Amino acid sequence: MTKEFEFSGRNYEFLPYVDCLNWIGGEWTEAQGGEWLDVENPRHGKVMGRVTVSGTEDIAKAVAAASAAAPGWKATPLKERAQILYRLKQLMERDLDELAWLLSHENGKTIAQAMGDVKKGIECVEFGCSIPNLAAGEQLDVSRGINCQVTHEPLGVVAGIVPFNFPTMVPLWMLPQALVTGNTFILKPSEQVPYSSMKLALLFKEAGLPDGVLNIVNGMKESVEAIADHPDIKAVGFVGSTKVAKIVYERAAKHAKRALCLGGAKNHLVVVPDADPELTAETLVASAYGCSGQRCMAASVVVAVGDVQHIIDRTVEIASGMELGKDMGAIINAKSVERINNYIDDAEKRGVKVLVDGRNASVAGNPGNWVGPTILDGVTADMPAGCEEIFGPVLSIIHVDTLDEAIAVENDNPYGNAAAIFTTNGGVARYAIERFSAGMCGINIGVPVPREPFAFGGWNDSKIGHGDMTGYDGFRFWTQPRKVTSRWEAAKDATWMS
Ligand code: NAD
Repeated sequence: MTKEFEFSGRNYEFLPYVDCLNWIGGEWTEAQGGEWLDVENPRHGKVMGRVTVSGTEDIAKAVAAASAAAPGWKATPLKERAQILYRLKQLMERDLDELAWLLSHENGKTIAQAMGDVKKGIECVEFGCSIPNLAAGEQLDVSRGINCQVTHEPLGVVAGIVPFNFPTMVPLWMLPQALVTGNTFILKPSEQVPYSSMKLALLFKEAGLPDGVLNIVNGMKESVEAIADHPDIKAVGFVGSTKVAKIVYERAAKHAKRALCLGGAKNHLVVVPDADPELTAETLVASAYGCSGQRCMAASVVVAVGDVQHIIDRTVEIASGMELGKDMGAIINAKSVERINNYIDDAEKRGVKVLVDGRNASVAGNPGNWVGPTILDGVTADMPAGCEEIFGPVLSIIHVDTLDEAIAVENDNPYGNAAAIFTTNGGVARYAIERFSAGMCGINIGVPVPREPFAFGGWNDSKIGHGDMTGYDGFRFWTQPRKVTSRWEAAKDATWMS
């Protein structure tokens, strides 16, 4: 493909895009099998482009390119490798609008939320710039004349497999740490949103990243399995649903490969009667409907303790006032719309009250995939809407009488990504936080994402593997420690210096 890339959209109009190809060894190439997949603009429900679908041979080709680039990249001083991220940050800021509009077009997010995705990605790049500081200084004289030193060495060729919902941020959860520490990388973007990674590859190239250090292979199941199986790929980072996280983890482990696989979520927000009503209602809405509920940190269940009706009423009022298409974006595809609507239908059939109904939503002029904000009242923890990941703008309310019952509801769910408590009492907050079975907890915060340098990762079925994905844990995940113990004594006899 030689045609100039056209990522110039600056509005919600429908735009056709160039073919999305693989980026291997610094060249744009079509997958060998000749298969293509349509990429749909979720706002318009129309095909905006197509992506090449890779298989085992394409992964092998990418591994060969990454292996060829590995010695040179490893030999490049760490501080020099980090300089590329400083330049990348500047380039991402220069192209912020373009990155955000591109992301909005392929993912369906509003431009404000797409902008947030890109800015969070930039924050990850900033963390990567700081890695030379982290990597310095682990040494100690452990005995007379004996020194121990730890250096963090690259693993070699590594890979990342990412989901559709944060097309720029999630790849950047992995790339800065993995690249600055000297690995070469194969990225497998979601086939539903491949263009943001394509743009990222162009920016990395412009920032001075040598060819072959970052390779992008597009595709689905076959390419993921080939990554897990390939003997020369030393580590795999995965972010996506729990079902696939388990598949990838097990497959990678079978090949004695390091793997960290983040999965799905069912996040519980516990509201007690002394919670600040306005802050709580606004935060519940922002958490449940940001990115149309298509984020692993979205509020999915409100556990209402005792009488918090005034907070529910206010939440309903704010949610009902949201303008679809402006305050909230589209759903990724028609199949997801159907899945989300089925959860609402099922809950209604079981006698749940639909306080706000997002079914049959539409946006004038944008005939894409829409579901409006939805609130289900009177859900129980054993209903599908009460225990399964819906991954859409649906907030289920479960009523309980005591805080211990609320904690039990949270604890019983197999996921464990995030949990939060809304209260004005520090003792209540502490009691709940100490008992939640979730990796990321919030106090009066609806989306308790740990920002850099802290690491991102849930517990239970929300994470398969050890350690967390971002921040310092990312630095550890993508490196192996070399321990050097040394003894140098003053020479007793002559050396070349004497
Ligand atoms: P997904 O699991 O369907 O896809 C993730 C990746 O796996 C994609 O690259 C996809 O091509 C690939 N894939 C899909 N099916 C596969 C299969 N059968 N075998 C091998 N590979 C396969 O997830 P998604 O729909 O793209 O994203 C939404 C999910 O991701 C939600 O469950 C959400 O909670 C989760 N998520 C989790 C986090 C987290 O940090 N825990 C962050 C973002 C998204």
